[in-house]
Amino acid sequence: MANVNITSGKTRRAQIAGGGFAGLTAAIALRQNGWEVTLHEKSSELRAFGAGIYLWHNGLRVLEALGALDDVLQGSHTPPTYETWMHNKSVSKETFNGLPWRIMTRRHLHDALVSRARAVGVEMRVNSEAVTADPKGRLTLGTGEVLEADLIVGADGVGSKVRDSIGFKQDRWSATDGIIRLIVPRKKEELGDGEWDNTIDMWNFSPRVQRILYSPCNKKELYLGMMAPAADPRGSRVPIDLEVWVEMFPFLEPCLVEAAKLTTARYDKYETTKLDSWTRGKVALVGDAAHAMCPALAQGAGCSMVNAFSLSQDVEAVGSVEDALVEWEKRIRPITDRCQALSADYAANRSLSKGNMFTPAALEAARYDPIRRVYSWPQ
Ligand SMILES: Cc1cc2nc3c(=O)[nH]c(=O)nc-3n(C[C@H](O)[C@H](O)[C@H](O)COP(=O)(O)OP(=O)(O)OC[C@H]3O[C@@H](n4cnc5c(N)ncnc54)[C@H](O)[C@@H]3O)c2cc1C
Repeated sequence: MANVNITSGKTRRAQIAGGGFAGLTAAIALRQNGWEVTLHEKSSELRAFGAGIYLWHNGLRVLEALGALDDVLQGSHTPPTYETWMHNKSVSKETFNGLPWRIMTRRHLHDALVSRARAVGVEMRVNSEAVTADPKGRLTLGTGEVLEADLIVGADGVGSKVRDSIGFKQDRWSATDGIIRLIVPRKKEELGDGEWDNTIDMWNFSPRVQRILYSPCNKKELYLGMMAPAADPRGSRVPIDLEVWVEMFPFLEPCLVEAAKLTTARYDKYETTKLDSWTRGKVALVGDAAHAMCPALAQGAGCSMVNAFSLSQDVEAVGSVEDALVEWEKRIRPITDRCQALSADYAANRSLSKGNMFTPAALEAARYDPIRRVYSWPQ
């Protein structure tokens, strides 16, 4: 059913900048509510960047609401436990009291969202870069085209032009550590004895600080998050320096040999962005454009998807889009703010290395159910 603007009598229209997880979520959710939606992606194709991703109860509930959950569950994996090792000895095994969580390749999640966006009728334009936005509801593209809309969504990532063209006040900083993220073949049968279906968060503090987050995505694909301080030239080198990684994690050698072959690997520092506000007039920022966070709690995309989905709920509930956006930020932002702060603290102190660190506070965002708007998973 069409979603009509009461003043103009026309179907309400949203212009969305960015075809990542946040932009696609907003696009599908608004379209499902009857909006006309155009999504602009500056790259020449709609594809995921990065390697693997963890989603928790909050993100999985969004996928359910979008009609994409079944697709995502096929070809992804929930490990029996999240295990933490220090110097190659197990220190904890966490199961989160049954809280749903899942690991997958980013490609898998992105493909499911793109296919759902197509199915519901989102217009998706590639090679379409947003360059400026205007709080009155105008989006200007790199071609010079100016598009009018009832709602503009800036989902254009950490370097957001939508955000910067409007001049939101922001703090941005990078953490000491960074990460190389790769997908390699599982090679489970070559790894020797061990519970290789688990997530294993392998920490080492000597002779160097190096961590591997071993994350099986499905029967064939393994996501390796290889963390080292930015100040360590060998740990942060790409393609990976096989010798330094095998020296520290010899039992993973078959996987590390595969990792060393990946010449397109990238080392990324952890970035945090904090804004004074996520909205201005008819413009809302979602995802990393609004709140890039350290990945310690694996919630950047989860929060992005919850916030984008919640936006689609609130523009239905409140009369004017401008008022709805203010209400939306007030309602949903505190969860993301707390998650972002704790993630930054965990990253700065390398807290996950202690094991058993998924406390109720650390799982707050994960436990949120955006459909019912409650914390549905008791601790
Ligand atoms: C190491 C690491 C591990 C992480 N692990 C997890 C995890 O396990 N779980 C989790 O939930 N989160 C995780 N995150 C966070 C997560 O990756 C991000 O929060 C999430 O991908 C943000 O999505 P987004 O759509 O906001 O931004 P992006 O994914 O950056 O998408 C932005 C899109 O906009 C496009 N674009 C950019 N500029 C323009 C423009 N001007 N016009 C049009 N299009 C434009 C880009 O090409 C891109 O397609 C991790 C992050 C890092 C760094």
